[in-house]
Amino acid sequence: MGETYRHIAIMGPPGGGKGTQAAILSEKLGIRAFSAGELLREEVARGTQEGREIEAIITKGNLVPSRYIVNRMRERIVDPQNAKGYILDGFPRTLDQRDEFEAMQKDDPHIVANRLELDLVLLLQVPDDYVIDRIIGRYACAKCGALYHEKFKQPKTFGVCDACGHKEFTRRADDNYETVVSRLRNYRSVTAPVIPYYEEKGLLKCIDGTGPIDVVAEKIRKVVGY
Ligand code: ADP
Ligand code: ZN
Repeated sequence: MGETYRHIAIMGPPGGGKGTQAAILSEKLGIRAFSAGELLREEVARGTQEGREIEAIITKGNLVPSRYIVNRMRERIVDPQNAKGYILDGFPRTLDQRDEFEAMQKDDPHIVANRLELDLVLLLQVPDDYVIDRIIGRYACAKCGALYHEKFKQPKTFGVCDACGHKEFTRRADDNYETVVSRLRNYRSVTAPVIPYYEEKGLLKCIDGTGPIDVVAEKIRKVVGY
């Protein structure tokens, strides 16, 4: 038997399948998945001082400083409710975030004492033309956020969310051809440079993300060990 991992980051291009695989892993392992965007939106919704600062930055169309994101991630990582582990979906996304996250893992007494450091980085490798197809057809349940796709993953009953029965769905405003191309360019220049460090640290495992959802999930199962 191989190793088992429970402190996992999933990386890869936008539309690469991170959210989809994070949701599957989360269910199988009984641990939660967190995406940076989701944590920021939650903080804004909570209406805290930091939430208001975040909102002001986001509505101006600016990038939130990495410390806000890393601090939010830290709260989830050290939360006793997440003692069994965590899945980070699309984080760290920049060199800054990676460096602050690394410093936090070295310095935070709770993380060190409870051995909560990242132990696996899964890189979903998917070529651009796949990513474009996947993003253009993507939509989500308006209530629970479950992910669907016009071609690849329709709900079992058309128009009804498998997970919660809700009948309204939403699309992300940025899921269109024009933005996908620039998001891919961004991924290559800003996010991909994060990866070699994890390779050197021996944490990186590359997964061919081109197959159907269950085939990719099976590849991940073998690596993660469950
Ligand atoms: P990311 O979180 O990396 O942006 P998603 O998980 O949202 O990517 O996947 C993008 C879209 O492609 C979703 O609509 C999802 O249902 C679909 N999808 C994900 N993985 C696959 C796959 N292996 N094959 C086909 N479609 C997929
Ligand atoms: Zn739903």
